[in-house]
Parts: sequence; C-alpha cells; structure tokens
Amino acid sequence: MSRVIVIGAGVGGLAAAARLSVKGHSVTIVEQADRVGGKLHTYRRAGFAFDTGPSLFTLPAVYRDLFLKTGKSLEESVDLQSVEPAFHYHFSDGSELLLPGADPAQCANAIAMCMGAQAGDQWREFMERAGEMWRITRQPFLQSPLNGFASLLPLANPKDIATIAPFTTLRKLATKTFTDPRLVTLVDRYATYTGSDPRKAPAVLATVPYIEQLFGVWHIGGGLGALADALEKRCAERGVDIQLNTSVNEILTDGNRVTGIRTDRGEVIPADIVVSNSDARLTYNKLLAHSTTKKPKVPGDPSLAGFVVLLGLRGRTPRIAHHNVWFPKNYNAEFDAIFGRNPEPVADPAIYVCSPDDPLMRPNANSEAWFILVNAPRHDSSGRDGVNWDAPGLAESYGQQILDLLAARGTDIRDRIEFMEIRTPADLERETRAPGGSIYGTSSNGVNAAFNRPANRSPIEGLFLVGGSSHPGGGLPLVGMGAEITADLIGRA
Ligand SMILES: Cc1cc2nc3c(=O)[nH]c(=O)nc-3n(C[C@H](O)[C@H](O)[C@H](O)COP(=O)(O)OP(=O)(O)OC[C@H]3O[C@@H](n4cnc5c(N)ncnc54)[C@H](O)[C@@H]3O)c2cc1C
Repeated sequence: MSRVIVIGAGVGGLAAAARLSVKGHSVTIVEQADRVGGKLHTYRRAGFAFDTGPSLFTLPAVYRDLFLKTGKSLEESVDLQSVEPAFHYHFSDGSELLLPGADPAQCANAIAMCMGAQAGDQWREFMERAGEMWRITRQPFLQSPLNGFASLLPLANPKDIATIAPFTTLRKLATKTFTDPRLVTLVDRYATYTGSDPRKAPAVLATVPYIEQLFGVWHIGGGLGALADALEKRCAERGVDIQLNTSVNEILTDGNRVTGIRTDRGEVIPADIVVSNSDARLTYNKLLAHSTTKKPKVPGDPSLAGFVVLLGLRGRTPRIAHHNVWFPKNYNAEFDAIFGRNPEPVADPAIYVCSPDDPLMRPNANSEAWFILVNAPRHDSSGRDGVNWDAPGLAESYGQQILDLLAARGTDIRDRIEFMEIRTPADLERETRAPGGSIYGTSSNGVNAAFNRPANRSPIEGLFLVGGSSHPGGGLPLVGMGAEITADLIGRA
C-alpha cells in the first residue's frame, strides 16, 4: 500500500483520491480552505443559493464512471436534472434563440426557425464535423496520458487529421461554415469554455457544443456544489483522510523522488506519491522551488478570468431560462480587452445569467437567485499583466455597469434587488489559489496549447498533477477525465 498525499480538494483532487483509494492506496487530502470543492461551490445567503463556479454540468458520463467505480451511482448520490431548454441566447440585433437540450436535430430546427433553413443546414453540417472530431480525439487524446504532438500519432490517417484541422482556429472553421454572423458568435462563445480566444483556439473546440447538444445540459438539485459534497462523502466512505485549513508550502524530494510534503504549520507528512491539484505553475515554481530537478516550463496564455455578480431578487423575471446569454455587438472587442496588450474590463461584454428554477436555491416561489458571469482579464495587482481588480471602487462600478447594460437590453432587475455581492478574479485567487483568478488554468490559445499543457506524470518520480491546469484541461468533464488518467498512471497499490 502506498501513502498518497493529494494537495488540494478541488474536483480533480477529490476524484483522483476516490479512485486511488479504490486501487488500495492510503490517501490523505490536504486542503488550504475550510471546505472542499475549490472552484466548484454553492454559496448560500438568506435562503438564496448560488453556484459561484461551475453552473453548467455537461458530459455526466465522466462522473457516472467515477461514482460507479467507487461505490453508489451518480444518480444515487446527487439529484441530477436535465435542463430544458438548455439556453436562451439574445443577439445584439434583438433576435433570440431558445436551444433545446440533448437533441441535435431539434437544435438545428430551432436555429432554422430563428435564422432560416440555410442556417439550420449549416449547423447540421458543423455538428457532423464536430461529431467526427469527438470520435477521433476522445480516446487517444482526452482520455490518454499526454505525449506532446506524438499524441496525434494514433490519428495517422490523413483524413482524420484533415477533419480535426489542427492548424485551423475555431473562428476560421465557423466563418467558413456559416453565412449568418450570429452562428459565428454562438460558436465563438465555446472557446471561452476553455478560457480562450476563438481567434486563436483550435477548431477542435467545436466538440464542446457537440457534447452539449448530444449528451445534454444538466443541473444538480440544490446547486452543483452538491457534486463536491458527494465526492467528499465518497472519499470519506473509502477511508480518505481530508485535512482542511492546511496549506502545503513545499513538496519534499530526495534527489529526483518525492518523499512527502511540508505544511504551513511546519509539519512534514511523508508520502510515496504526491498528487498536486494545485495550479501547475504554482506546483513547479513555488512548491518545488527548492528542487534542482529540471522542471517543465508551463507555457501558454493563462486562461481568462471571470467577474461575478450574485443577486438575490424579489419577484420573477418573465421569460428567463436556466442559462441565458446576451451577446454584445462587437464580440472581438471582448477578446481584445482580455487577451490584448492592455487588458481592461470589457466595456460591453457577453453577459451570462444563470437563474435555476430550483426551489432549493431561492427562499420562496416569488424570488430568484441570479449568478451573473462576464469574462474578464485576470487579476494583477501591478496592472501590467491584467487588471488590478482590488482598485478602490472598480468592482462596484463595473458591477453596476453590467446591470445597466442588461437594463438597456430590456432586462431591468435593478429595483428588485434584495442583495448584491460581487466576486472578482482577485477574490477567486484568494479563495482557491487560482493564479490571477484564471478560471481554467492555461487557455487553449494557439496550435500547441493543448500539447504543451503540463502532463499528469511529472518528471519528478512519484509526483503527479491533476486538475484544470494540467492535461487534458479545465471544466468539470476534462478535470474528471484527468483524474482517471492520473489514477491509472499511478496504478494499484
Ligand atoms: C466562475 C467560474 C465558472 C465556471 N463555470 C464552469 C461551468 O459552467 N462548467 C464547468 O464544467 N466548469 C466551469 N468552471 C471550471 C471548473 O470550475 C474548474 O475547471 C474545476 O472546478 C477545476 O477543478 P480543479 O480540480 O482544477 O481544482 P480547483 O477548483 O482549482 O481546486 C484546487 C484546490 O486546491 C487547493 N489548493 C491549492 N493550492 C494548495 C496548497 N498549496 N495547499 C493546499 N491546498 C491547495 C485550493 O484551495 C482548491 O481547493 C468554472 C469556474 C469558475 C471559476
């Protein structure tokens, strides 16, 4: 039996710990916060509940596998609910698109109704290509250990390479396929699901809407944070020891081998294997600062961050769906503001509102809990590589600006606010140690990004990485896949 220390109780850390305990290891999770879940969290206030991190649950199959292989099924562990309709999109020209969930044919029909028959046909063609991309990349890339560009070898078939078009951006694929600019805007948004710029992110991200439309969009009763609670319970049932309020300051090594960790209280916990769920850059540059082993550089743009407004609202909003997006007139300006040379809060951002019709997330039937998220540059207190979100008055005035923009677009909730709370990228960094408040670790900007992401097995013997900043990337589905890869690499005790 190996002694395994997992640094961090984010989803990746919890999922890896549960899988490793089943493989017979003795597992301890060390988490700096006073709760598990990391970015995945449901915050409660005055009868309202808000998912302050993930609010959209896709590809539940990843977690079905995890729960089944470690005990009771996912469905027995959380209240999984399909979301219908999946999305209510508002375009800047005033047109609206209600997309159904888990039904690609109906999605194409809805697009045809909104934008015309040609748009519906083009969407079908796009989804067919995306389905092929998913078939080609899922096993050899997303569900396998990272092997740089060699990961493409199993796809040696030139037809498969042409389908993935590794040198084409998501924007290019969309502009080539669609004549209606609204569909380009819609597809652009999926680049942001990996924290990226559609003008730089690879075309293969077309698989994101494909997965959403084929496998559906899901909610968990009471809030997605219930998934973190269920994972914590599962870990406890399997004998995993979880130590909260304990920060890991150092990963200890002897030559090129890990020997344990040192906590902020100076305690040394010996281990045969360390799995770091901390950000990959922090793992290599901070926790291993002392190590003389050549550590991999973590290249690539950090992912975008998010500016969050939580609203407890009196009354109900007509025609509000569970997931709602208001697109701006000039989406490029959003990506320029976030990824350009002089990062600044986006003046007219795409506004996402999550308003679950869930009785467990509001005090009474005549109220709503709103989670508003807009993409934002990361936090940098110097203001050089991001925005200083701690600057006096900035968060409050920007929060107000977003409510004013929504009002200008016809959804004015300003006189129904019972309370309003703001979470900036700086707050996320303080809470979860995500550098700069980046949502997804590194972005997928650039042809090499996915291949340069830190691998799950580090060059230091016995040290493994799991979570959004390592392979295969961020978001609940990929983080869950990464946990499986890591546990399989470590193997049985
Ligand atoms: C606002 C927002 C919206 C999102 N929306 C979605 C969505 O709708 N759908 C989706 O699928 N994904 C979404 N995501 C992304 C998703 O939340 C993440 O990809 C995923 O939760 C990351 O999991 P992780 O395992 O990388 O761990 P993290 O959540 O990053 O957790 C890492 C943990 O490690 C701990 N830690 C770090 N360093 C140390 C240390 N030195 N010692 C001890 N503990 C340490 C931290 O406290 C934290 O608990 C969203 C994220 C955010 C922030």
